[in-house]
Amino acid sequence: MNKGILIVVSAPSGSGKSTILRRLLALRDNLRFSVSATTRAPRAGEEHGREYFFVTRDEFQAMVAADAFLEHAEFVENLYGTPRDAVERQLEQGFDVYLDIDVQGARQVKAKRPETLTVFILPPSMEELERRLTGRGTDDPETIRRRLSQAERECAERVHFDYVIVNDEVERAAAELSGIIDGYKARLAQEAY
Ligand code: ADP
Ligand code: 5GP
Repeated sequence: MNKGILIVVSAPSGSGKSTILRRLLALRDNLRFSVSATTRAPRAGEEHGREYFFVTRDEFQAMVAADAFLEHAEFVENLYGTPRDAVERQLEQGFDVYLDIDVQGARQVKAKRPETLTVFILPPSMEELERRLTGRGTDDPETIRRRLSQAERECAERVHFDYVIVNDEVERAAAELSGIIDGYKARLAQEAY
């Protein structure tokens, strides 16, 4: 059985990454989402073990000390990390593994594992990003302001990614991402042949 590939997707918060992921999971049987650990408080509707493992700062630091993360980073005052064992297990089982992580994490993973596919999702514009963050209704105005200023910095990082997708329309963007994954897998298979 072939090993799966690691797919890193980064995007400014609110650009529609989670929405695209839900669509992508429906399109691709072989795809598994890597559940990160975070010190952020759960949002309404989020479940421990599904969106994230919600942990305390002490628990997070203990995982760092035990070298349990493939990568980890601080993002708008919270810590986020990718548990390494779960990722390795799923790749070995032949699943493609999807990491929804920030640009700092993406660079760490690409440096450690250059065969990783990295994709950056752009919102159509900063005005539309603000509309989506506000419309989602999960963050207070101060958090939205900080996430928008973070977004400006993150968008400049897109040059370090293998591909950039604009999330103008969910169905189209998810289909484009799925096509990119197929193309990338075909290329890796050709290189290994
Ligand atoms: P992220 O995971 O990147 O933080 P979400 O997937 O939560 O973002 O999307 C933020 C908001 O924008 C949600 O309310 C979502 O329904 C909406 N949204 C996502 N993609 C689109 C799109 N292509 N067009 C319009 N609204 C969208
Ligand atoms: P949110 O709080 O909106 O769920 O996520 C905030 C940011 O943290 C997003 O850019 C998301 O991709 C990123 N993130 C989520 N999990 C991880 C992780 O395990 N590692 C890193 N580096 N970033 C993460």
